[in-house]
Amino acid sequence: MMRGSVPPSWKETATMTSEARTAPGTIVLDNIGKHYKMGKTLVNALKEVSVTFEQGSYWAIMGPSGSGKSTLLNILGCLDRLSSGRYLLGGSDVSEMDDDRLSLLRLKRLGFVFQSFNLIPQLSVWKNIELPLYYLGVEEKKSRERAFELAGMVGLEERAHHRPLELSGGQMQRVAVARALANDPDVLLADEPTGNLDTPTGLEILSLLKELNSRGKTVIMVTHEPDVAEHAQNLLHMRDGRIEGIEQRGDNG
Ligand code: ADP
Ligand code: MG
Repeated sequence: MMRGSVPPSWKETATMTSEARTAPGTIVLDNIGKHYKMGKTLVNALKEVSVTFEQGSYWAIMGPSGSGKSTLLNILGCLDRLSSGRYLLGGSDVSEMDDDRLSLLRLKRLGFVFQSFNLIPQLSVWKNIELPLYYLGVEEKKSRERAFELAGMVGLEERAHHRPLELSGGQMQRVAVARALANDPDVLLADEPTGNLDTPTGLEILSLLKELNSRGKTVIMVTHEPDVAEHAQNLLHMRDGRIEGIEQRGDNG
């Protein structure tokens, strides 16, 4: 499918097998809208957005500044609520959940990586990685083991006792990726994950995301860099709060 073509409609989504539609890492957005009130004016940040992110797919969301990319990612991450439409994660309607259920869902099912890493400077690498498990109430010994295992997976075992400020940018982002994986999420969301990194370091992070995707996680990242978007199989182009086009490139290895 090429840029500018019509995004898949709800009807097309409905033709997916029910197994694919209810896989834990599948997200269906059905005609969602999001507006913000600014005094008396209404800002329509998202309009009529319908798209299905299938479990195990890898997406890049692109578009000019102000086109709604971050709003979309925040909605996907349940950090913000829809104004209209439906959001299904693994077949369950997220739009109808109360705040407590949403927080739990976020902790259990979703992982986040941010441009500015968002690590806690006072905590060591392994403590940062362990944080979601701490909130989930996982037993201390288990969560510590898991944190060290993840530190090793991102190549930072030796740094596990360091503080974030003693690391390079790329290392900090690897800690953030490890933290995002602590709860073994179904979906990994990343807002400009390479935005603060130089090219080779950014490539390391992208290859990490790719590897996680090849292990079955749905990966959705926002980027404004075409070189970065190249790493995803699917491109979602946003403009003025709408989907302008979707490109599906299949597996690009
Ligand atoms: P992008 O990430 O593509 O730059 P955003 O999703 O941040 O775009 O913003 C989309 C539109 O929604 C913009 O017009 C922005 O000003 C507006 N917007 C985003 N967040 C808020 C908010 N919290 N309050 C009011 N308007 C907002
Ligand atoms: Mg943004």
